[in-house]
Amino acid sequence: MKSAPPIRSLKLGAFKVIVVNDGTRVTEKPHEIYGTNQSQQAVAELLQQNFLPTEALVNSFSPVLVDTGTDVVLFDTGMGEGGREAGMGRLAEGIRAAGYAPEQVSVVVVTHMHGDHIGGLMEAGKPAFANARYVMGETEYAFWKDPARAGTPAENGHKAVLEKIVPLAEKTTFIGDGAEVVPGISAVAAFGHSPGHMVFRLDSDGKGMMLTADTANHYVLSLQRPDWEVRFDMDKTKAAETRRRVFDMIASERLPFIGYHMPFPAVGFVEKQGEGYRFVPVSYQLDI
Ligand SMILES: [Zn+2]
Repeated sequence: MKSAPPIRSLKLGAFKVIVVNDGTRVTEKPHEIYGTNQSQQAVAELLQQNFLPTEALVNSFSPVLVDTGTDVVLFDTGMGEGGREAGMGRLAEGIRAAGYAPEQVSVVVVTHMHGDHIGGLMEAGKPAFANARYVMGETEYAFWKDPARAGTPAENGHKAVLEKIVPLAEKTTFIGDGAEVVPGISAVAAFGHSPGHMVFRLDSDGKGMMLTADTANHYVLSLQRPDWEVRFDMDKTKAAETRRRVFDMIASERLPFIGYHMPFPAVGFVEKQGEGYRFVPVSYQLDI
């Protein structure tokens, strides 16, 4: 029998925060994704300085469950059934391993509508979180739902939104910058990676944390060199500006953050260093 996917529980004031690993994926040729406006040599050197291989990288995918005591709020849904053959799409297993059932999720928040975040919304044509309402960015939805995406590079994303999100629209609150999801959880516009990408701030009993979603997609390449262009950032200039704004704030407030694609458990801190930020992985700061 296969063991459950990795999970990590943390305390944030009165909130219980659980990171679930939906899966990991190895990708070849990092320089074709990160630092696409840099030389292959520059990308390889930065990886090497950080004790990382230069020919491939590991990307991990980490949805987050937040139990506020009143609500069970899930942020993003992983790859879903489309990822199972590749050993991904393990969110529901992880939720169970954490002692919850998918039916207990009361709110599903979607940070943005790329496939690795919305893939798990539906399971065999039915909502995977049967009792949930949904919260999603209005700018993001307007972009992907628009039939004008047909025949453009966003066509597959448009089709995925028709399949996974349009059927849930009646149960969805579409939000903008600053909106409250539930008490202690609020949205911050962080556009650039996608047209309406949103990040979220958690606050409980005087403790704060950011969920940065895809603001930075690699703990070295995106954080140490926030201005380097990334293939997955749809508006590269705006994505870089957003990275600096969000991580400047996290560094100056010394907040912990969870980044969807950071190495599992995807939790850490940053300090300003050189032209970017140094990632400090969590140890026991949120256990005691
Ligand atoms: Zn992503």
